Amino acid sequence: MKITRGYKTELALNNKQRTACLQHAGAARFAYNWALNRKSEAYKKGEKVPTAIDLHRELNQLKQTELSWMYGVSKCAPQEALRHVDKAYDNFFRKVKLRKQGKFKGKVGFPKFKKKSKGIGSFRFTTGAIKVFPDAIQLPRLGELRLKEHDYLPTSGVHILSATVSEQAGHWFVSIQVEEERQEPAKTATTAIGIDLGITTLATCSDGVEFPNPRSLKHKLKKLKRLQRVHSRKQKGSKNREKSRKKLAVLHARIAHIRKDSIHKFTTHVCKNHAHIGIEDLYVAGMLKNHHLAQAIADTSMGEVKRHLTYKAEKFATRIVQIDRFYPSSKTCSACQFVLDELSLSIRSWQCPNCHTWHERDLNAAKNILAVSFLERLNACGAASSGLVATLSETSRVEART
Ligand SMILES: [Zn+2]
Repeated sequence: MKITRGYKTELALNNKQRTACLQHAGAARFAYNWALNRKSEAYKKGEKVPTAIDLHRELNQLKQTELSWMYGVSKCAPQEALRHVDKAYDNFFRKVKLRKQGKFKGKVGFPKFKKKSKGIGSFRFTTGAIKVFPDAIQLPRLGELRLKEHDYLPTSGVHILSATVSEQAGHWFVSIQVEEERQEPAKTATTAIGIDLGITTLATCSDGVEFPNPRSLKHKLKKLKRLQRVHSRKQKGSKNREKSRKKLAVLHARIAHIRKDSIHKFTTHVCKNHAHIGIEDLYVAGMLKNHHLAQAIADTSMGEVKRHLTYKAEKFATRIVQIDRFYPSSKTCSACQFVLDELSLSIRSWQCPNCHTWHERDLNAAKNILAVSFLERLNACGAASSGLVATLSETSRVEART
């Protein structure tokens, strides 16, 4: 079976190449803003809204006169940007429609103009010669760009669909989308675990393994607060403000990378080493409405954890079972099933009033999640249909006892 996947890696650009990349990103940003303006003007006047194809024709005309500078960049950069406007525009109207029908409850915002001050942005190639070497990538117009990490991008046996070049806090990246043959995963793991995603720790597993939030993250967040304060005091448009903006961007990128790294390590570990994973069906959007929790939850990026688990489960042939979001996993005693009326968030350990077992809050929740995920699985596929389920549930009972 063929699957599409992405590979992203950092570029090692020289000055000339960096300038060329900036020009391409600039052209993409210009085309995006120009197209968005053309579309909304036409819409306001009640005229037919031009599509990416119409606009591409128009842009080519303009290139011969006032936009001759665009000949300096690959035609792909503006062309792809026009397609992105089309998509942004369609998405907006689709969401408005869904909201009217009551099927969508989130925020709906009209596409915004891209600002250089908000980021250099990116540009994409879908046609032309994209070639990958172990230590470099060749792109239209830009030529061969060296890669910081060698032998990461796939060089053979894949079909390259597109390449996107982007900038973040002074670093340049290329990401390629490829179509490749999926390798059938060989599963050797047979164990099952339940996972409690948390705020104080990133995740607690029912076998007692904990994945803490990296300490460096907390430290960096403190620093972020300070930098943000400093930044807000600088005069708008000043050189010093630009300097502090750059510093802030670097720190933001650093925090994002630390977070990403810990999520990758945790999700790969659990998917690789277990055959069955029970996890709460966290309703992230709903939880974010609770402001006390919002910052902390956004920090642990639970949505991102889910996304990683889902695709890695497929890669390692691991089964993921999400349990009902209203199941009281923290308040239930994993030894005797007694359910507490109330358990405040600040309480980290408690004793069951019924069987007097002491529980660590997160570990107890993880054990319950594991047990319930088996029940849900049994309900879903019929009790007798799978021998694996029977053996797995025995494992769980063993684990629950220990
Ligand atoms: Zn109990």
